[in-house]
Amino acid sequence: MNFEEHAAKPLLGEYGIAIPRGELARTPAEAAAAAARIGAVVVKAQVPTGKRGKAGGIRLAATPEEARTHARAILGMEIAGHRVEKLLIEEQVPIARELYAAVLNDTSTKGPLVMFSTAGGMDIEEVAATVPEKLRRLAVDIRRGLTPGDAAKLVQGLALGWAESEVADVLVKLYAAYAAFDAELLEINPLVVTTDGRVVALDCKFVMDDCAVVRQSEVARAGTPDPLTALEERAKAAHLKYIDLDGDVGVLANGAGLTMTTMDVVRHHGGRPANFLEIGGESYTQAKPALELLLSNPRIKSLVINFCGAFARTDVMTQGVIEAIEALKPRLPIFFSVHGTGDEEAIRMLKDRLGVTPLATMDDASKAAVDAAGGAAP
Ligand code: GDP
Ligand code: MN
Repeated sequence: MNFEEHAAKPLLGEYGIAIPRGELARTPAEAAAAAARIGAVVVKAQVPTGKRGKAGGIRLAATPEEARTHARAILGMEIAGHRVEKLLIEEQVPIARELYAAVLNDTSTKGPLVMFSTAGGMDIEEVAATVPEKLRRLAVDIRRGLTPGDAAKLVQGLALGWAESEVADVLVKLYAAYAAFDAELLEINPLVVTTDGRVVALDCKFVMDDCAVVRQSEVARAGTPDPLTALEERAKAAHLKYIDLDGDVGVLANGAGLTMTTMDVVRHHGGRPANFLEIGGESYTQAKPALELLLSNPRIKSLVINFCGAFARTDVMTQGVIEAIEALKPRLPIFFSVHGTGDEEAIRMLKDRLGVTPLATMDDASKAAVDAAGGAAP
């Protein structure tokens, strides 16, 4: 779950990181009123994406009238597909240096990674690509956490002067906040050293692990849930657990475990799953609407259907699948693997009504689907 800047920054504040004073505004009049209370301000578009500065969504205003003018220009703008409906009116901060600090879940070290750079203000991807030597990284052992000593070492020798110890302290606090709020990413860009001797977080990006939303319910209330795709909306209305992915091999299996295993096997053979879709537990009777949903995805080039029956009867699931196929008459190649409770009946039905014989194993069915979709991706 993403958080807009105005929702993310107070979380840094809770952990003792300095943030500018600011107020939320939804109209030019509110922006002007906030500026009248604060003084010289920055008018900042609030959308769950970065690069607002480049898009013209961040503007300095010396007076309330200027804040009103900027608010008028920014409200209603589209930034990376998001319409601006809110502004953060924030106290201006005199910048001496812009730094970058973040903690994120790193897939290669399978743990938290602290990143720090003196090339703040620009995109971190750009820093990594153009001046990689300016990016410092430290993988953290979650059992130890980030110690003040670790943080001090990470920011050493960068000519930060008096700010060096303050910046190290910010990193320790940032790590604590990352852990406390179940962040996937907690980023400050820029973290600024001011001309009047402070270290302040001017921007904050926070992505919460979706699995933590339940236990973080209080904090999550301020988040921006990911918008659902059209198919995900349809699935939700039909009480199906469905996630759109960007591949072209459709996957229908019963139970989340078997579904993810099937997706892994598709990947193993070089293919790319088009979706996650679970018809587990009681919902094994929902094979028909589930398959209809998959078949309405124009990106799917082939389909693997993998049923393994225990409590869920494969003949009931197969019956649903056959009904969907008879109703929609899809042209794409479909490969079956059917094992367990009810499989004899299921296999007979497939033969009689569709003229299809399931493959011997889920490996065979998955590989056949990958080949039919055009084979392994380069
Ligand atoms: P982003 O473009 O979405 O990442 O938005 P940021 O909040 O990072 O703002 C972009 C840039 O605007 C920063 O890197 C700063 O250079 C500038 N900026 C933001 N707040 C202030 C401020 O209070 N004073 C000054 N002088 N510049 C600011
Ligand atoms: Mn930024």
